[in-house]
Amino acid sequence: MSQLTNEQQMLKENAERFLEREATPFIAQAEKGGEFPWQLLPKLAEFGYIGPMLPEEDGGQGASYTDMTILMEAAGHQWLGLRALMNVANMIAGLLNAHANEEQKQRYLKPLLAGQRRVFVAITEPNHGSDASSIETRAIDRGDHFELRGTKQWITNAAGDFGVVLAQVVSPDGAPKGPAALIVDRSEAQYTVRPLETMILRGTGTSEIVFDGTKVPRSRLVGQIGGGLKTILTTLNEGRLSVSAGAVGAAQKALDLSIEYARTRVQFGRPIGEFQLVQGMLTEMVTLVRASRLLCRDAAAALDAGRTARLECAIAKKFCTESAHRVASLALQVHGGSGYSTDLPLERIFRDTRGGLIPEGTSEIQILIIGRELLGLSAFGDRPKARKDK
Ligand SMILES: Cc1cc2nc3c(=O)[nH]c(=O)nc-3n(C[C@H](O)[C@H](O)[C@H](O)COP(=O)(O)OP(=O)(O)OC[C@H]3O[C@@H](n4cnc5c(N)ncnc54)[C@H](O)[C@@H]3O)c2cc1C
Repeated sequence: MSQLTNEQQMLKENAERFLEREATPFIAQAEKGGEFPWQLLPKLAEFGYIGPMLPEEDGGQGASYTDMTILMEAAGHQWLGLRALMNVANMIAGLLNAHANEEQKQRYLKPLLAGQRRVFVAITEPNHGSDASSIETRAIDRGDHFELRGTKQWITNAAGDFGVVLAQVVSPDGAPKGPAALIVDRSEAQYTVRPLETMILRGTGTSEIVFDGTKVPRSRLVGQIGGGLKTILTTLNEGRLSVSAGAVGAAQKALDLSIEYARTRVQFGRPIGEFQLVQGMLTEMVTLVRASRLLCRDAAAALDAGRTARLECAIAKKFCTESAHRVASLALQVHGGSGYSTDLPLERIFRDTRGGLIPEGTSEIQILIIGRELLGLSAFGDRPKARKDK
């Protein structure tokens, strides 16, 4: 489970080298300026960071879930913001590949896979986060187009070229028709994007989007009216695995920096790494990193074996993100005052690893999923599906 094949080891090393060379030089500026270096996007696509799991005949790499975790761990090691953007792109790529028609694929999926389009996914609203099934954004069915009304919040890269928006379709008299996933194309639709300042992922941009009668052509409907929630959550487990793997990478980076610092920082005439209390912190860190990686690969292996792996993905998401933030906190302790300096990546890693505990289902939501999978009883009030793959 934990052993990589020779090809996977090569993928890991190549990804680390590629990101070190191409992305690292841009991180500090992007985090300060709040703008991702978009010139990287075609290179990331060419390397295989966008839609790696799509079959080769559909423009992907035919990568396994384990391969995907290798890519995302490498991304998290360098920059969690970049991992988050790749996650959004992969979510949309998977969704379009599974549900879009041929015209939509040519117009949106193809350029996305080539790194020529920036994308967003808009589910969350001011009044509805964890409970996505209750969203209020309305898409009034006007026949040849939908009229979109509502506000989406905390949307990563909302200034992108297009996005997929979850909305409740209603007839002009207000009768509900069901949720739908709609492609909103910035080149043809009018809507307002208002940047929000957040503690985390400062280099990727998080915004509010206001749809105030936005016209969306009917041809931008992906899948069926009524199936919107299912459509937009097509890659839910993949997303949770991606967050988990990114968290492992970030935690590994915090550990690497701490080992180096403990060897070289001298206090009381000795490297601080000689003090048992510092060794105790490093021991906790390495244990959490390794346990996280094993859980992440366990979830990937379960998905690669064709299982639904809801339990494994929820355990990995909760444990890896919480552990990464604990590791980042210990890394700050090992570094003393210098850990807080914005000249080092640690304060960014500390902020960004905290970010992992909220999106893609909060830690509390993961607990409810784990409980439902274990017990067959649901705190959500739904009727759990039988777990076939215990
Ligand atoms: C930086 C960032 C980027 C994001 N990017 C996107 C994006 O691109 N697209 C998008 O659609 N969304 C995005 N989100 C939104 C994210 O998915 C939501 O923040 C998340 O789903 C939680 O929703 P919420 O913030 O409304 O919290 P709430 O759902 O209001 O939760 C508040 C608290 O209540 C707890 N809680 C809620 N329900 C239960 C329950 N049943 N039992 C126990 N506890 C519960 C939660 O765990 C949490 O602790 C982003 C968020 C952030 C911070």
